[in-house]
Amino acid sequence: MAAKIIDGKLISGQIKEELKLEVDELKERGIVPGLAVVIVGEDPASQVYVGQKEKSCAALGIYSEKHALSAETSQNELIGLVKELNKNSKIHGILVQLPLPRHLDESEVLTAIDPEKDVDGFHPVNVGKLVIGEEAYLPCTPHGVQELLIRSDVDVDGKDVVIVGRSNIVGKPMAMILLQKKKGANATVTVCHTGTRDIAAHTRQADILIVAVGKAKAVTGDMVKEGVVVIDVGVNRTEAGLVGDVDFETVKEKASAITPVPGGVGPMTIAMLMMNTVEAAKKKVSE
Ligand code: NAP
Repeated sequence: MAAKIIDGKLISGQIKEELKLEVDELKERGIVPGLAVVIVGEDPASQVYVGQKEKSCAALGIYSEKHALSAETSQNELIGLVKELNKNSKIHGILVQLPLPRHLDESEVLTAIDPEKDVDGFHPVNVGKLVIGEEAYLPCTPHGVQELLIRSDVDVDGKDVVIVGRSNIVGKPMAMILLQKKKGANATVTVCHTGTRDIAAHTRQADILIVAVGKAKAVTGDMVKEGVVVIDVGVNRTEAGLVGDVDFETVKEKASAITPVPGGVGPMTIAMLMMNTVEAAKKKVSE
């Protein structure tokens, strides 16, 4: 079976076009959506991600501010900046690029962000709202995966979804999003991790398999069933270039649809950040 390639670049482009129209409408009402991105230190991958976020803001007409702080920044300085941004009326969304240097307490920093401006969806208030099914900013990567599935006409309702990886930024929120008794969700969700006894026994049951482990080619063709839909969240820098967590070549032979790396989930993450920022600005219209 020739797997359909789920084109994240194309789908994220459509989402951005829709958002551009919303930004234009907001501007007519006198509101320019604003995003502040805070980056601490010189991590090269983080620099690339922040650059992409700024570029996307510019393309959509979203105001963006980059706050680049030195790797030696103290916890108090960083929290001080977050608090200032919380009060800044030009800023509707705040994103602190992770990971932070080791001496900084990530959890305390994320909790200092005003939940109304938490466009990354990592604040415990938004995490809690997601769990109990209330409206919340959803974390961008798992939200992007859900949007990819919806826009590729993959119905998850009643399906067996297996997620490999249980991080707070991908695996766990992914499970919570697809578990909700809502449109675009309502799946039977299994989450695998390093404590799972026989991962392949689970992945072979999956109608939809979502992999976020951070290990190149961790899932191979013998671990999936015919017709599975595979979403590869992984980004691994290898000598052969960027590769996912899924062995694309062997898995695509059995899958009915699969995301490539690059060009799958990656572009969706940024599109969903833009979406959350526009949503945050829209709330100001109704206030
Ligand atoms: P993470 O925090 O390192 O978490 C990895 C998870 O995978 C952990 O829960 C870990 O289990 C599990 N795991 C690791 N090796 C495993 C194995 N061999 N079998 C089963 N489970 C295993 O990673 P993350 O932040 O979720 O990111 C995962 C991947 O997605 C990375 O490649 C990252 O670069 C990529 N990513 C991409 C985007 C994007 O926009 N495309 C965004 C975020 C992340 P334990 O909990 O038991 O340790």
